[in-house]
Amino acid sequence: MIIEEIKRDENFIKEIRHALHIHPETAYEERWTSDFVAKKLQSFGITVHKGLAKTGVLGILKSGYSHKSVALRAELDALDIKEQTNLPYKSRNESKMHACGHDGHMAMLLAAAKYLAKHKELFDGTIYFIFQPAEENEGGAKRMIEDGLFETYKIDSIYGLHNWPALEEGKIAISKGAVMASYDNFEIEILAKGSHAAHPEHGVDPILIASHLITALQSIISRDIGALENGILSVTQLHSGSTWNVIPDSAILRGTVRTFKKEIQDIIEERIKTLSDSITKAFRANAKVDYKRLYPATVNNYIETALKSAKEVVGEENIVTNFPPSMGSEDFSFFLQKKRGCYVKLGTKKRDSENFMLHNPKYDFNDNVLTIGASYWVKLAINELKNSSH
Ligand SMILES: [Zn+2]
Ligand SMILES: [Zn+2]
Repeated sequence: MIIEEIKRDENFIKEIRHALHIHPETAYEERWTSDFVAKKLQSFGITVHKGLAKTGVLGILKSGYSHKSVALRAELDALDIKEQTNLPYKSRNESKMHACGHDGHMAMLLAAAKYLAKHKELFDGTIYFIFQPAEENEGGAKRMIEDGLFETYKIDSIYGLHNWPALEEGKIAISKGAVMASYDNFEIEILAKGSHAAHPEHGVDPILIASHLITALQSIISRDIGALENGILSVTQLHSGSTWNVIPDSAILRGTVRTFKKEIQDIIEERIKTLSDSITKAFRANAKVDYKRLYPATVNNYIETALKSAKEVVGEENIVTNFPPSMGSEDFSFFLQKKRGCYVKLGTKKRDSENFMLHNPKYDFNDNVLTIGASYWVKLAINELKNSSH
């Protein structure tokens, strides 16, 4: 059941969501957003600490005498996308947009914070409300940890939630193990030898080598990892040459790798390096490979409290425990590498209007789930602090 008082507060929650949607800001520049969130938390009587990971905001709400604690996380950042909607609360920041629904995530967490601050008798312990910057690409979660989040504050467990347009509105997907993939990028520079295009025998053609290499890279997923494992290797950029009649002296390939397991990630990285090295050598050129591991896989290590709390809000029939993991990635993974917790997907598939996926310029967060998400956070915090098995 959605909490009655939160239901009555629905318009307030919507207003917050729309205000945030108008003012999208990207990685580490979320100053307006950060101030807005901090002021709201303070207005609910919640202690606010700022400065973690530059624009990060931490709300701290304590009640009773227990030393137990739980952290709930939302993201502050938007994307570099030009919004293509006609909404009255359309983005006013040129080419920035809340196209991942982080505006909705903030609104739901703020609504939960407001309710919990008003009902401190319902829990015993400390609730941390984490509003992290730079989830998209820049790894704000990692920076919060580096800035001492877990040393400065005694946080026992941590929870995340993401709206999910591919899942029916009002359903919640919760499963143990990997739910989002790891995210790595690679760059391969092929150092060859330029020549007149009419005399390729005087040079070493990096474009021909790149073509062989791209084909070979696509054998990694199909030949080097088991059929029951998962992995993606996409070459997304190929740059070389600038005219018709010159063979260039180098080429650059760039791409991304997604997996769920470190063992598979290790195999892919090793194979990219070996193939790049040996194929370029076979053609009398050299390769410089730069492989960067950005986000690890998001692996849920404790789902019991999330399951119980979600059931209390949407009912057992709306819990999906076998939802397939996503090949997308999420920096919440860094938190789960350190703490007990779980990341759930809240279904937002629109029933009455066209449904757009995350990062689409026509996407808009589904306001119908605001009170569901806020109620879930409230139940989760209360249940987790009650939990005596830890
Ligand atoms: Zn996103
Ligand atoms: Zn997101």
